[in-house]
Amino acid sequence: MKIVIVGGVAGGMSAAARARRLAEDAEIVVLEKDDYVSFANCGLPYHVSGEIPDRADLLVQTPQSLRRALALDVRTASEAIAVDRDAKTVRVRNSDGEYDLAYDALVLAPGARAIRPPIPGIDSPLVHTLRTVPDADSVRALLESGASRAVVLGAGFIGVEAAEALRARGLEVALVDLAPHVLPPLEDELASLLHRELVRNGVSVHTGVSAEAVEQPDGNRSAEVVLSDGTRLPADVVLLSVGVRPNSSLAAAAGLTLGPTGAIRVDSEMRTSDPAIWAVGDAVEVQHGVTAALGPIPLAGPANRQGRRAADAIVRTLQGQDDGACAAPPAVLGTAIVRVFGLAAAMTGANRAALEAAGIEHHSVHVHPNNHAGYYPGATQLHLVVHFGTDGRILGAQAVGKDGADKRIDVLATAIRSGMTADDVAELELSYSPPFGSAKDPVNMAGFVAQNVLAGVLDLWYPWQLEAVQAESLVLDVRSPGEYASGHLPVAVNVPHTRIRERLSEIRELAAGRPVRVLCASGFRSYLAHRMLTAAGLDSANLSGGMLTMRAARPDLVLEADRAPALTAR
Ligand SMILES: Cc1cc2nc3c(=O)[nH]c(=O)nc-3n(C[C@H](O)[C@H](O)[C@H](O)COP(=O)(O)OP(=O)(O)OC[C@H]3O[C@@H](n4cnc5c(N)ncnc54)[C@H](O)[C@@H]3O)c2cc1C
Repeated sequence: MKIVIVGGVAGGMSAAARARRLAEDAEIVVLEKDDYVSFANCGLPYHVSGEIPDRADLLVQTPQSLRRALALDVRTASEAIAVDRDAKTVRVRNSDGEYDLAYDALVLAPGARAIRPPIPGIDSPLVHTLRTVPDADSVRALLESGASRAVVLGAGFIGVEAAEALRARGLEVALVDLAPHVLPPLEDELASLLHRELVRNGVSVHTGVSAEAVEQPDGNRSAEVVLSDGTRLPADVVLLSVGVRPNSSLAAAAGLTLGPTGAIRVDSEMRTSDPAIWAVGDAVEVQHGVTAALGPIPLAGPANRQGRRAADAIVRTLQGQDDGACAAPPAVLGTAIVRVFGLAAAMTGANRAALEAAGIEHHSVHVHPNNHAGYYPGATQLHLVVHFGTDGRILGAQAVGKDGADKRIDVLATAIRSGMTADDVAELELSYSPPFGSAKDPVNMAGFVAQNVLAGVLDLWYPWQLEAVQAESLVLDVRSPGEYASGHLPVAVNVPHTRIRERLSEIRELAAGRPVRVLCASGFRSYLAHRMLTAAGLDSANLSGGMLTMRAARPDLVLEADRAPALTAR
């Protein structure tokens, strides 16, 4: 049994190790075009920052350790340059020349390659990507040679991590993205919290603009990045992280089927359109676990699991057993997390844009609970958004906070994977004592709010409806007079929630037949008010997540501040 694997990092090495555990007699060759295998690419930003000071810590395995532990034949500096599917051979190029390697099963795990926008100056020696150990070496070398200004192009996960790392090394850092906000997959009401955190930590953030050129006059050791709005950002180092494309050229040249995004098409067992070739990782097309959209989702967890799954299927196939594949590729939820200085942002499942693109009807709830019991010292606020279908099924969730975003999103990822509904999530029994959580965990809280929406007990309105709401409704701010005075929507009338019952007729008069749209700080007091107004027969809805969500979703909103709000003076 001869298994050849192209690509020796996440997906490829998982496939190799699993294949060995299942088939002691298999001959397993791993081809890696670079000098390192099984390295911790996810750790590269933390090596740049100095948090992982020792480069050797990134090199999780070596060809020698893999030979000793798993009897793998790992060939570095060996690039697979062609596949002859009829002969079942791979053409390999190394420093000595080229040779053909025969396979019974071939695994393609070539990962992704960085997108290089075709702008003038992009090939300047100051422009670097951060995908390999040598990339990290070059960036560190520039820092050690005195670089003091960095421009990071792309504010996705790696761009944001790189910006943080470069600030940690004391550089002036500008972060640029064409999207309207940092971390484009994040909902804007959460992304703005990260934007603030980046700025608070000295990163200059430029969103909604593209880099048009990198200008480095001859002989200069620094460059200027020219943005589409005319801004010129000085740079001693430019980090390029505007996204990746599946590395599928070898597969394409071999005539394997690719999807429209250029990713390699596979079935549920990671088999390509050739029954002797499997593919895994960033190079393959997966199915989104909520929207069913097809495309690559480049993350380490799926790559590792796909490598394992491919090895299972290969060994079963080569042992003459039915592989039990189905045509659909594996489902991936895109569960991810990133640290942004003092905050973490985590997400799973579909965001609003993906749900809308897929035409999936849904509701969204925003809650802002503490990460653990508020009375226990050190509690911090978590901002959690959960999307769910009209049938109650959880479709997506995102969280930002200092602490506890990871565990809530992991619970919700599990909930989505198992098809749980708002009712299920409300009933989840999660570990609790004051230093760790709350008797009603933030995940339960989101479930309760979702249940209320589905039961018709709670109608919500959202920051993106603000203009229509202000034009057509009575906006009722039910916070205390002091909170109202500290900043409120210009048209909002203040009646504290404790005084709604006694002032119902006044509210009805002010509404004059219009709907009443209620809000408070986080959505709870206004929920109480909403119930009173609904019981009184008024058309009421509550601002999801209250002013916390409003301020985050509409950071440019100009609030009014009064010393003595007239309408509360009774
Ligand atoms: C800086 C950075 C940080 C990241 N952080 C995270 C994170 O925190 N969480 C997360 O989930 N994901 C993270 N990722 C993404 C994650 O690393 C990838 O999704 C994962 O490594 C993909 O695995 P893969 O096996 O498909 O490709 P890779 O791990 O990239 O491996 C592909 C390998 O194939 C080799 N190769 C390509 N073509 C050939 C060829 N023709 N012949 C021989 N070898 C070839 C390449 O040299 C490469 O070493 C990060 C990625 C980077 C770059």
